[in-house]
Amino acid sequence: MQKLIIFLILLVSQLSAQVKFDEHFLPKTLRVDYAHSGNKSEDFYFFKALKEEPYWGGSKVNLIDKFEYGKYLLEVFESASQKLIYSRTFSTLFSEWQTTKEAEKINKSFDESVVMPFPKNKVQIVISSRNRDHSLTPKFRLDIDPKNYFIDRGLKTIYDTIVILNSGDYSKKVDIVIIPDGYTSGQMIKFEKDARRFADYIFNSSPYKENKNNFNVRAVKAPSLERGTDIPAEGQYPNTLLNTTFYTFDEERYLMTEDFNKVRDIAANVPYDQIYILVNSNKYGGGAIYNHYSVCTSDDRYGEYVFVHELGHGFAFLADEYFTSSTAYIDFYPLNIEPLEPNITTLVDFESKWKHLVTEGTPIPTPTESKYKNVTGAFEGGGYVAKGVYRPKMDCSMNSISVDNYCPVCSEAIVKMIQFYSE
Ligand SMILES: [Zn+2]
Repeated sequence: MQKLIIFLILLVSQLSAQVKFDEHFLPKTLRVDYAHSGNKSEDFYFFKALKEEPYWGGSKVNLIDKFEYGKYLLEVFESASQKLIYSRTFSTLFSEWQTTKEAEKINKSFDESVVMPFPKNKVQIVISSRNRDHSLTPKFRLDIDPKNYFIDRGLKTIYDTIVILNSGDYSKKVDIVIIPDGYTSGQMIKFEKDARRFADYIFNSSPYKENKNNFNVRAVKAPSLERGTDIPAEGQYPNTLLNTTFYTFDEERYLMTEDFNKVRDIAANVPYDQIYILVNSNKYGGGAIYNHYSVCTSDDRYGEYVFVHELGHGFAFLADEYFTSSTAYIDFYPLNIEPLEPNITTLVDFESKWKHLVTEGTPIPTPTESKYKNVTGAFEGGGYVAKGVYRPKMDCSMNSISVDNYCPVCSEAIVKMIQFYSE
């Protein structure tokens, strides 16, 4: 009986802990723009501006993040009650830059922003950075009065938008927005064709195809003055809307942008959860960062693979499972700590990863032999590291250039994230 009462008390307190959207929020977005600066070992936040975006594309049910993912955590507390009413994990380009050689020598600053549903009452936001052992240290606090007249309400939704896939209410779906870079106003028909083709690519792959009715896909017809994208090593610097560039961190195929708040301005023309930048180029490349943005090129022959692979990073915090690469990162995954990414392990805490998907009798680590080709195990090499980091399957779309080939561990992580957005 006592156990039952304790159980009921726990149940009631859990239910009351759930945040009711309409009590705390209006159905639009509040954005906080800031500079994130530092070097290899330090980071600092500098507040820039508050902006209102017209839609809230996120869940109205799952307001508190369930995943221990990403390099950062945003928390929003209602000031009067100190109650946590919203949280989200994410990573940024700055967090990757911190692992480059350059970060050992200079300080650098990146434009970043966080979004939350628009609060009805005064709130305090806290952004915490993860330490190497994954613990969180609060680095930035800001008190926000939603009635403050300095919240910039001038963000205009001025571009034509396209609905590519409409599965219903955007608060119960994963909303992907595809935004163009390097398409001129005369190339908007090409952009629309490209965006539709790439949206179809997503649903050629499991587990997206089985969950297609949990997705909406929209595109924003935002032209650039000139076509293409920056290729610094070839002296090419066209004037494009989002200022994307190859050779990010001096990696030829790493195609990203540092103008993140411009990216948000364009994405905000529609409700969105995930931002995908489609770059008008036939060069191989792309990139993606968890809950930040993803990038792919329009006319490279591996476009389908790159598009879906990068979405794995941006949407579900999947790690790269390859390790034979000239990546610029140093000690990306310390070997004495279990990485947070769901699809790699150092075997420090394999229980917390995909042990439940491994058939009894499978050796761990699993030898890279042909008889284990279709087996889920723990194969050495992954996350840019050849020794001491393990991946779930010999091959996966997060490893080689292969389409519709996510391993069971990656698939499970993607499905969990789809459910989080669509509950
Ligand atoms: Zn995988």
